[in-house]
Amino acid sequence: MNIFNRINLLLHSIRFRLALWFEFILAILLIGFSGMLLYMQIQELQAETLIHLESKLENIEKTFGADTANPQQQGFPLSANDGDDTSLQKEDVLALYNPDGSLQKMWGAFTDPIGLDLSSVSKGDEHNPAIELLTLHNAAGRVQYIFKVVPLNSKNASAGYLAIGTPLDPSGKLGRLFVTLIILIGSTLLISFAGGFWLADRAMRPVKTIAAKARSISETDLSQRFNLSTKDEIGQLAETFDSMLARLESAFARQRQFTADASHELRTPLTIVNLETARALSAPRPVKEYQRVLQIVQSENELMSHLVGDMLTLARMDAHQQSLHQEPLDLSDLALDVVERLAPLAARQEIKLETGDLPEVTIFGDRQSLTQMLTNLVENAIKYTAQNGMNQPRHILVEAGTHPTQPLGWVRVSDSGPGIPSEHLAHLFDRFYRVDESRTQSNDASSPTGSGLGLAIVEGIAKLHGGSIEVKSTLGNGSIFEVIFPLCIKT
Ligand code: ADP
Repeated sequence: MNIFNRINLLLHSIRFRLALWFEFILAILLIGFSGMLLYMQIQELQAETLIHLESKLENIEKTFGADTANPQQQGFPLSANDGDDTSLQKEDVLALYNPDGSLQKMWGAFTDPIGLDLSSVSKGDEHNPAIELLTLHNAAGRVQYIFKVVPLNSKNASAGYLAIGTPLDPSGKLGRLFVTLIILIGSTLLISFAGGFWLADRAMRPVKTIAAKARSISETDLSQRFNLSTKDEIGQLAETFDSMLARLESAFARQRQFTADASHELRTPLTIVNLETARALSAPRPVKEYQRVLQIVQSENELMSHLVGDMLTLARMDAHQQSLHQEPLDLSDLALDVVERLAPLAARQEIKLETGDLPEVTIFGDRQSLTQMLTNLVENAIKYTAQNGMNQPRHILVEAGTHPTQPLGWVRVSDSGPGIPSEHLAHLFDRFYRVDESRTQSNDASSPTGSGLGLAIVEGIAKLHGGSIEVKSTLGNGSIFEVIFPLCIKT
């Protein structure tokens, strides 16, 4: 990266902008405070100077009598008595104006007309003289003068005006204060910018760490975490990233597991088809043998179609592509339909499939997927109850109802099958999960076949409808699957 790019990056960095904002606010505050300080200093000087002017005026009156009507004749000498605040100094100015406002005579530091505006002066009187601030130019440059103007009276008639002026800041106090303030503000801003930039840089350092680590995390290595121990905003950000990474990691792990399980499930029927066809083709066989092999191929094909269909359903659910045509439906109606449809299957297995209470339970749902959900549950119940011996109970009960206090409806499938060991209950709805792997092998004719996707689909459909599923089961005492849905409230 060349130097210009570096500078460009720096100028656009948050730490630079933070430092700049901090600087801007500090500058405004410092300038404000300094302005106030200068203003107060000017006010103080002005008040002080006015007191001196007052004393000088009093002194003039004392020296030349109360009637100062003809000061010209009286001379009005300016004393050079430095240090005496009451006598006129050489930098002071004394001006005498005619009643019409024209200048009569001037004494002191300036003898040329000084352009004093007497229009405002006329508002003053002997006891409350008018005050005027003027910037005059002498050899030292621009000097701020403060003037006091009093009207002169002779036998109750106006005899003109007397103006007495003195430099506001003869010792240059204000100038020095101004320079000091400029130097102080400048150096404070410089130091604070450096400090602010350093602080912002320190505060932003964890962000750099996070960015560097995020770059190093690849899709295949989602186990890394930022593990920032700070509890500030950056720490919270890192914590959010960490939990996002954890979710991604488990999602990727689930996906990998799903692919591995799916291939594993497909491999068994494919191997069976391959072996059987290879054996049949290895030598001429009687027609019956070909028929037997074709039947095996057909049943394995059915199994694979079923499996692929289930996987497709789950994939659509994951991608939220499952098209739901939701409408108000009676859960009891659906349950009755499913029971009637599967009754022949249960009868073939000599299982009593009956319905219990089926009151009207209206929910807002998709007929096709809810039918699939109930079919999976009842088919499971038939499949696993069929494992009971003929002298054991072989019945299934399907019932529905509503919650007594909450706007919830439920449908329940209870069977008298072998039940499920409690340690398996928590995983029952996981994809490809089967309680007993050995009893689901398709080549074992006495065991029920299944891929372990049925209950995952049931749970997926329940969740799509805002519902949930619960299972109660004890080994040897059958199982109860209950799906709960929010009721469709009629308006
Ligand atoms: P499968 O296709 O194997 O039936 P499911 O997801 O439907 O897959 O069920 C997962 C596992 O839960 C089954 O392998 C079975 O062991 C157990 N199971 C499901 N329903 C019942 C039931 N009614 N009685 C006993 N076990 C059941």
